[in-house]
Amino acid sequence: MATERTFSIIKPDATRRNLTGAINKLIEESGLRIVAQKRMKLTRAQAEEFYAIHRERPFFNDLVGFMVSGPVVVQVLEGANAVGHYRDVMGATNPANADAGTIRKEFAESIEANSVHGSDSPENAAIEIPFFFKPEEIVG
Ligand code: GDP
Repeated sequence: MATERTFSIIKPDATRRNLTGAINKLIEESGLRIVAQKRMKLTRAQAEEFYAIHRERPFFNDLVGFMVSGPVVVQVLEGANAVGHYRDVMGATNPANADAGTIRKEFAESIEANSVHGSDSPENAAIEIPFFFKPEEIVG
């Protein structure tokens, strides 16, 4: 399978509980490589633009408020079938439905505060990665 890149965010509920390393351990043990990473505080404008696809959903304002409530860690992950593989490592959006051993089953607090974001398609990964990283900041 072709080597691929996906975009990941460790969300504020996870950074608040000091879980960056624990989540990175699951990512790396799954075989994905963290080829770019930085900790930052999203602005409201960044969060609104990043989640613009959800603008009409009833939870949009709550989601944006949550994403700016604390630091996040944005990442680029690389590996075979990285987009689909990371979705498997993350688990279902609602942690109640997530499989054992997934990041969301292990760590998520709720359907909103669900610890991680991962691109849902290679097309969206190609949009999300340059939203946060310059090419020279990604070192494979
Ligand atoms: P994902 O691709 O698994 O992250 O899920 P979605 O793209 O459907 O939703 C984006 C993010 O919005 C999720 O990761 C959650 O943080 C949040 N979210 C999704 N569904 C709900 C919901 O029903 N209520 C609230 N409050 N947040 C939600």
